[in-house]
Amino acid sequence: MIVYDLKCAGGHRFEGWFSSAEDFTSQKARQILNCPTCADDQIERMPSVTRINMGAVENPPAPAASANKDAFAIAQMLYSKMLDELLTKSEDVGKQFPEEARRIFYQESPARAIRGVATQAEHDELVEEGVPVARLPVPPADQMN
Ligand SMILES: [Zn+2]
Repeated sequence: MIVYDLKCAGGHRFEGWFSSAEDFTSQKARQILNCPTCADDQIERMPSVTRINMGAVENPPAPAASANKDAFAIAQMLYSKMLDELLTKSEDVGKQFPEEARRIFYQESPARAIRGVATQAEHDELVEEGVPVARLPVPPADQMN
């Protein structure tokens, strides 16, 4: 089936379904195409908008599941590597974290990777100020200090 956007001489727009382009031409030639609103038979095909209904939609190609799995594994590996690096190379500032993160952000302290603890409220404040902080699912070992 072909769906054409049609327009009558009175400017009413409607859709017409045809089995083929020839079907439309033939119906129009025989003037059996009428506007559903005003019954005008001066029907024009609107340019550009043509949709084709192919009947049953074929199944879209399945996503490459294995590729996705690989990407996920890589992301996990990178993440745990990054985590390692953060935890071993960053300076532990403990509870000074919110203050120190802010100082680094405002260039009052030397730029460096730090880690520490922050309460939910402190974390939210930092985020609101635009300080780039990230929460890690692994708490620093000395969280209790
Ligand atoms: Zn009309």
